[in-house]
Amino acid sequence: MSIDITVQPGSTTINKTGGWRTFRPSTDLEHCISCGTCARVCPENCIKMTAPLLPKEGLGVVPKPKPQTDYDFCKGCGVCASECPVKVIKMELERK
Ligand code: SF4
Ligand code: SF4
Repeated sequence: MSIDITVQPGSTTINKTGGWRTFRPSTDLEHCISCGTCARVCPENCIKMTAPLLPKEGLGVVPKPKPQTDYDFCKGCGVCASECPVKVIKMELERK
C-alpha cells in the first residue's frame, strides 16, 4: 500500500518553514540558566546550545552554553516558551 505525502519523513531540518510563523520566540539570554530544555523539546530541532567564546584574558570561569534559535526553521509553535523552567522565552508577534 502506498500513501501520498507532500514531504519526506525527517525533512524538518531541510525545508525552511520559518515563513509559516505568526509568533517568534525571543530569549532573554542574560537570565537563561542554560538548562537546555528548550533545545530538547523543540519539535523542529532548531535550537542549538552553543558555548560562548572564552574571554581572551582568562580561563577561570567557563561560560555556559546558551540557546541559539534558527529562525529559518522555527515555526513559532511556542513549545520552548511553554517548557522553559524560568520563563525567559517570550513569544512575540512576528513582524514581516
Ligand atoms: S517556537 Fe517552536 S519551533 Fe520555534 S524554537 Fe520554539 S519550540 Fe522550536
Ligand atoms: S529552557 Fe529557558 S533556561 Fe533553559 S536553556 Fe532554554 S531559554 Fe535557557
